[in-house]
Amino acid sequence: MSGILIKNVNILTMNEEKTIIPKGVVAISGNIILEVGDSTLEEKYKDFITIDGEDGILMPGMVNCHTHAAMVPFRSLADDCGDRLRKYLFPLEQKLVDRELVAIGAKYALCEMLLGGVTTFCDMYYFEDEVAKVSKKMGVRAVLGETVVNFPAPDSKKPYGGLCYGEEFIKSWMGDDLITPAIAPHAPYSNDEISLKKAHKLSKKYNIPMIMHVAEMDFEYLYYKEQYSLSPVKYLNSLGILDENFIGAHMILLDEGDLDILQSNGVGVSHNMGANSKGAKGVAPVLEMYKRGMKIGLGTDGPMSGNTLDIITQMALVGKVHKLYNKDRTILPAHEIVEMATIGGARALNLGEKIGSIEVGKKADLVLIETTSVNMQPIYDYYSTIVYSANPSNVHTVIVDGKILVRDKQLIGIDFLNVKKELLNLRDKVETIAKEM
Ligand SMILES: [Zn+2]
Repeated sequence: MSGILIKNVNILTMNEEKTIIPKGVVAISGNIILEVGDSTLEEKYKDFITIDGEDGILMPGMVNCHTHAAMVPFRSLADDCGDRLRKYLFPLEQKLVDRELVAIGAKYALCEMLLGGVTTFCDMYYFEDEVAKVSKKMGVRAVLGETVVNFPAPDSKKPYGGLCYGEEFIKSWMGDDLITPAIAPHAPYSNDEISLKKAHKLSKKYNIPMIMHVAEMDFEYLYYKEQYSLSPVKYLNSLGILDENFIGAHMILLDEGDLDILQSNGVGVSHNMGANSKGAKGVAPVLEMYKRGMKIGLGTDGPMSGNTLDIITQMALVGKVHKLYNKDRTILPAHEIVEMATIGGARALNLGEKIGSIEVGKKADLVLIETTSVNMQPIYDYYSTIVYSANPSNVHTVIVDGKILVRDKQLIGIDFLNVKKELLNLRDKVETIAKEM
């Protein structure tokens, strides 16, 4: 038998007991974790290709629960603008987003995610079939939802054209090992009741995730209060579309009743602290959600909203902002944040049986964080080191589905300089159009 053996690593298994194995060993066969244990296993797998982790930290691959990867050509534009979404983003997308831009943007974003230790991401955008092709080719696990909106979109002239486009996309990617197709109505305020119900019907018919921005914007909250005397969550609940396949991004403006609804319907949540704080949107009640045992993962949101695509940066923000907001440094201990970044995110995407922890039989999605860099020592608690000391440049090796995609901090089999060149070719076009806005 052949496979990969990772040795001399401190393993954060993120199993139910959060077992840590110092100087541990993980054996991988094909795309599956074959055995996890201490150094006595080395002898048994001496024929395997061996990776010496040099006393680094081996953790499950991180899950980015919410992004719009192909938006990367717009990153850092209009960062300080009040209504960036409606003034810049929507018009730019109308003018510039096409198949080519989506493929180029997704490729670049995937390089960045891999180098930052993200092995699974959940995306919603246009031409989502291009994102699927790129992800599959690069070997990254993904949940991908075609966007549905009430105006003509870059990939469909008719409002709500994403429903048709989305169903074709779902049909062509159903059953794929790496790619889980989904449907993604953009938000309650950018859809009507009929389109939301149709999207939910697709989610039911194919048993696939439904991704949506929810309870994110002040104007959204006020609109549903004024029109329906309901919160956005109660409005969606009144349509009967909240269930265990639903993944809500942001989920900031929630009351106790909303939390009851989300909990009892098994809704997954993407907590996007970087984008929420930069957008001055508020602090989501994640402590309350965690206490309720809800499925919570971390997300970056699109690179125009949050600027970064890795989850390590999010983890530090999550800890710091919640502690500051609650004036209590004891809340959200680092292990809970690492949980959200890994198994929590996997559960939010309904992939918890497959990924999110280092356990026998799970898919081999693993990240090795080196501990030799100047910022990484000393170590007293591996979780704290990852959340507060590490940065994406400490990601040393990344394995997705049993394949080594990053080794010695370099992408394997990807010509990054060419990917970057393609992205930078779009930059001047974006700037010229933005100047006219
Ligand atoms: Zn988003």
